[in-house]
Amino acid sequence: MTCRLTAEEYQEVVAFHGHSCPGLAIGVRVSELARRELGPVDASELVAVAETDMCGVDAIQFLTGCTLGKGNFIHRDYGKTAFSFYDRSSGRAFRAVFRPEARSGVQERMDEVSARLADGSATAQDRERLAELRGEMLEQFLKLPLDEMFTVQALHSAPPRPAQVLATLVCDGCGEGVMESRSRRWGGQTFCIPCFAEREQKI
Ligand SMILES: [Zn+2]
Ligand SMILES: [Zn+2]
Repeated sequence: MTCRLTAEEYQEVVAFHGHSCPGLAIGVRVSELARRELGPVDASELVAVAETDMCGVDAIQFLTGCTLGKGNFIHRDYGKTAFSFYDRSSGRAFRAVFRPEARSGVQERMDEVSARLADGSATAQDRERLAELRGEMLEQFLKLPLDEMFTVQALHSAPPRPAQVLATLVCDGCGEGVMESRSRRWGGQTFCIPCFAEREQKI
């Protein structure tokens, strides 16, 4: 396969994520791309921004060392299969967008089966077929050259700033502490997001 991970390394990613799936393979390949574009970068200098929260983000966190908890993995909820990586030490950065053509050849057949699943006419065979096709898609993602998987664009912007440590306020609704930047004001009181949502909700 084109993917440079050993079978063992791939299994470690699968163990972390919980299953093997095409989405995970996208994360594996984009992590490989980060290595190709930026070379070996100390994980503390690397920042990843994912514009999706699909399966692949687990591979990115596992393979690049950019994690949500450390603050160098940032999720932007844009629903796009796009990923940016920044090397803080060299200032180099790039954004990679998944090419939909990477699905071609398999997607068309998946769509046919999915349509039968959606309208209720699917058979047990269809379900099996869909599982097989997902396997084929996974193989395709692992085999494709990286440039056929992603369009790559150099970035010249600075990486997103690390999170600021702010004061903890007390929510007037539930009494729990809430970080200042996530607090809301309502009728002269301070609320956490869920308590604010309860009050603000329009009927
Ligand atoms: Zn998955
Ligand atoms: Zn509250």
